[in-house]
Amino acid sequence: MSKSKEIFSEAIKYIPGGVNSPVRAFGSINREPIFIKKAKGSKIYDVDGNEYIDLICSWGPMILGHNDERIKEAVFKACEDGLSFGAATEIEVEMAKLICEIVPCVDMVRMVNSGTEAVMSAIRVARGFTKKDKIIKFTGCYHGHSDGLLVKAGSGVMTAGVPDSAGVPKGCTKDTLSATYNDLSSVKELFKENEGQIAAIIIEPVAANMGVVLPEKSFLEGLRKICDENDALLIFDEVITGFRLGVAGASQYFGIKPDLVTYGKIIGAGMPVGAYGGRKEIMEMVSPVGAVYQAGTLSGNPVAMAAGITQLKILKESPDIYTELNKAGDTLYSEIKKIIERKGLGYTVNNIGSLASIFFTGEEVKDYSSAKKADTQKFAKYADSMYKNGIYVAPSQFEAMFLSASHTDDDLEKILEAVEKSLV
Ligand SMILES: *Cc1c(COP(=O)(O)O)cnc(C)c1O
Repeated sequence: MSKSKEIFSEAIKYIPGGVNSPVRAFGSINREPIFIKKAKGSKIYDVDGNEYIDLICSWGPMILGHNDERIKEAVFKACEDGLSFGAATEIEVEMAKLICEIVPCVDMVRMVNSGTEAVMSAIRVARGFTKKDKIIKFTGCYHGHSDGLLVKAGSGVMTAGVPDSAGVPKGCTKDTLSATYNDLSSVKELFKENEGQIAAIIIEPVAANMGVVLPEKSFLEGLRKICDENDALLIFDEVITGFRLGVAGASQYFGIKPDLVTYGKIIGAGMPVGAYGGRKEIMEMVSPVGAVYQAGTLSGNPVAMAAGITQLKILKESPDIYTELNKAGDTLYSEIKKIIERKGLGYTVNNIGSLASIFFTGEEVKDYSSAKKADTQKFAKYADSMYKNGIYVAPSQFEAMFLSASHTDDDLEKILEAVEKSLV
């Protein structure tokens, strides 16, 4: 028996499903999870000694590759001074200033400990600021696991086929309205039906939790306009797109100014960090300045800040990273499209720079219902074959592939060889 199997048989006794986050389970592809021992650069190593080229990159944070020496050094150095003080530190100010410098639509920012917390808090601020209760989200978008946002959600709940979670009281979701991604008329209808009651629209500006689904150009612009006309806030959930599509994320990439932005994943370089920020007058609603309460014992933790700030500084100072990442993505995914064409499979590849998904369907994928048409059993066979060929992909059809700056041309070639063997 493999060591992964052995550990898993212990894990399920003590941890629900043997994993601390459902997206780490391999149930939907009919096998036990791969237990990881270590990672470096573009490679990840399991407890059985297998080496994989990693296309998850911790779901995004490892945009520079695993275990970057500069980040590791900054973390070790921070540890020497202490792990946490529960008091204000200078590095938090540096981090906030850096984010405001990088992202034009952010005047002020508050650090939290996860993407879930960031979104949950941003929604509270939007409600406090507009004095309205209802929010619109899009079916298939995932915004963390807080009660009010587990409505027709993507990511692990989509994989599990239960987009609404048990244990969420109806009262918590009665103000969450769902619209269809890339469909402005579905949004307009909700505004008409709920006139004067909608505080905010929250969206993944590139959806990456129902697989990667790109926004039509006019769609994001339309949302901005609808929000302006209705005194509602536009919130970009940039937990995945932030510092990935470019250093200033989707708002810069698409040239659209949201009122609030949420971050996670990349912002902590692998440490548990999230943040939300936006216009000054809105952010001044947050306690202790304003009446919207939000707090966190370990928020702005000095070790986590050291990791995050080191990575963000590198990203800010080397714009070439994005040119090359996007080029690598475009090359890899156009080659994958060619393989699909050559084999006459007709599958759909959605990609934007270094983010992509292969959907096992012949139809164009532009929202939740078209994504759901994908053949998950075909995906399962593909994923299993990819692992056997040394490539670590997400164990679900409805997740993204992430490239990092440390993936080499040689890595891309090996990925293509594995795809060639695994796509049937
Ligand atoms: C991952 C994710 C979240 C939740 O972040 P956690 O750190 O897992 O709580 C929220 N929004 C989006 C878009 C995400 O991809």
